[in-house]
Amino acid sequence: MTRGAALVALLFLALAGCTPREQKTENRKLQVVTTLFPLYDMARAIGGTSAQVSLLLPPGAEAHSFEPRPGDILRLNRADLFVYTGPFMEPWAESLLKGIDSPRLQVVNAGRGIPLLKQGEEERHTAGHHHEGGGDPHIWLDFGNAQTMVVTILAGFVERDPAHTELYRHNAAGYRARLEELDNAYRTGLADCKTRTIIHGGHFAFGYLAKRYSLRYLSAFPPSGDSEPNARQMAEMVGLIRSSGAGVVYYEELVSPRLADTLARETGARLLMLNAAHNVSRADLDRGVTLPDLMKQNLENLRQGLLCR
Ligand SMILES: [Zn+2]
Repeated sequence: MTRGAALVALLFLALAGCTPREQKTENRKLQVVTTLFPLYDMARAIGGTSAQVSLLLPPGAEAHSFEPRPGDILRLNRADLFVYTGPFMEPWAESLLKGIDSPRLQVVNAGRGIPLLKQGEEERHTAGHHHEGGGDPHIWLDFGNAQTMVVTILAGFVERDPAHTELYRHNAAGYRARLEELDNAYRTGLADCKTRTIIHGGHFAFGYLAKRYSLRYLSAFPPSGDSEPNARQMAEMVGLIRSSGAGVVYYEELVSPRLADTLARETGARLLMLNAAHNVSRADLDRGVTLPDLMKQNLENLRQGLLCR
């Protein structure tokens, strides 16, 4: 094909609205769609001024059982990069992808290569729950894993938009440094505590965090949050709260702390939040909250609730 003929062919494809997988042009920002808040925060940091990063979950929406809307398919068909955590965290993302027919969309499974903890491997146990399936999907709550996720997401950016490789690498290194700082703050901040048991009235999300800092972790609900604790399990939790002496029950973000509330009333404990950061509220999104911000607040609350010096 001559150069002129090739140009005509390209022009035809462009007019037909069916452009081949092309490199991003200078004036168009890389369009990145992410599923959950941690990925959104990582991608936003890596992309800097060269990418337009959006969060697929509407603010406040529940992450595990989210049902994609028809508009989400259109959104992905227009995107360059789609970043999700993995098939066990967002089973809905994989079914969403089946509806996508876009030659330019690159998909990044940010959890690639990170082994999932099985329930029972962590330094805790849930109140009698046994989770079937692939294991605990909340991998970002181990800040070493989170660094690996940044590296995987970075690779997606570089492959899709090699012209900005240096910028993306620089930004990713900055974000990884913040995660390392966070990890050190947790190690130091949780080194000397009166109790090492986190009692959580939410779903099982902090197994990775507990394991990393040698804490015990007890949650009222399993990882996907879909079955209620029975009377025996509630009694077990109440007993643990009383014997721990810390007087704190943790509750989770974005849902009514109904069960944590019951546990707190039953035992006279007070409530503190542990934010797993699956998603954020509209207000937090608008004020530009970051994953490290939320994790710093968690550390504060853990230090209070575990009576750390
Ligand atoms: Zn979860």
